[in-house]
Amino acid sequence: MMAIKIVLAGPRGKMGTEAIKMIENESNFELVSCIDRKNNGKKLSEVIPSTALQAPIFEDPETCFSSVKADVFIDLTIPNVGYINTKAALEHSVHAVVGTSGFTDEQISELTKIAEVKGIGCIIAPNFALGAVLMMVFSKMAAKYFPDVEVIEKHHDQKIDAPSGTAVKTVEMIKEVREAKEQGHPEEYESVEGARGANIDGIHVHSMRLPGLVAHQEVVFGSKSQLLSIKHDSFHRESFMDGLHLAIEEVSKYKTLVYGLENILDLQ
Ligand code: NAP
Repeated sequence: MMAIKIVLAGPRGKMGTEAIKMIENESNFELVSCIDRKNNGKKLSEVIPSTALQAPIFEDPETCFSSVKADVFIDLTIPNVGYINTKAALEHSVHAVVGTSGFTDEQISELTKIAEVKGIGCIIAPNFALGAVLMMVFSKMAAKYFPDVEVIEKHHDQKIDAPSGTAVKTVEMIKEVREAKEQGHPEEYESVEGARGANIDGIHVHSMRLPGLVAHQEVVFGSKSQLLSIKHDSFHRESFMDGLHLAIEEVSKYKTLVYGLENILDLQ
């Protein structure tokens, strides 16, 4: 079987370095180049001493996709950069797997259009940890019976976007089944702004940022004399690699954009 040829953006980042390890340990995957805002023209091993991979580094995504033949592009950067990279990949008919969180609805719908016109798969997954995806799926199941819900997400203090993509996605999934309702006291007010967290369509989302944390979320459902908590913890970025691996293998089966790893899992 031919190895899947991969381009990775964000190789020096925390997720990027973990992805390089995963790719290097998978005989079916081949890293053919990287996109990085630094180190144009260098080989990956010159920049990341822990790898022997010789993939060339490009600063410009257009030049990268014009120069290298690739099957799958992976983005692990920041939203605006990830959007430009992913657009370039799809326009060059390279399937895309996006782990970068924080894309706007407009960016997602623009990428969906390009993917459909080109007939190319694009998987955007705010969370690649399979346990976290199941947490979202279980939360959706619970919300049908427990409409009073709040989300607490906790991440390391270097994360720049809040709330997390996972929290936003969880709320979106809950909204699909939850009866619309105003939670809390009808005359509730904040004596300190932000005390009740973000309010996404009536569901409160609380974001904590501390050193020592990686990626954690608890979805708490309240009802008469009972609480149901659905909780997931990623203790290391290694936890995201099972889902990333799966998405790389599956993305070429799609001809459109798929948002959320749960849509490529067999959940029957
Ligand atoms: P990180 O360590 O900060 O890495 C970010 C990477 O993006 C670095 O290589 C960084 O390069 C690059 N970058 C930042 N600003 C840039 C710019 N203006 N132009 C070009 N490159 C730029 O972050 P991380 O923890 O690896 O996370 C990367 C992304 O994945 C984030 O969006 C995060 O939310 C997301 N994430 C997703 C999952 C998932 O399961 N889907 C899990 C964890 C994280 P410099 O070093 O030069 O800044």
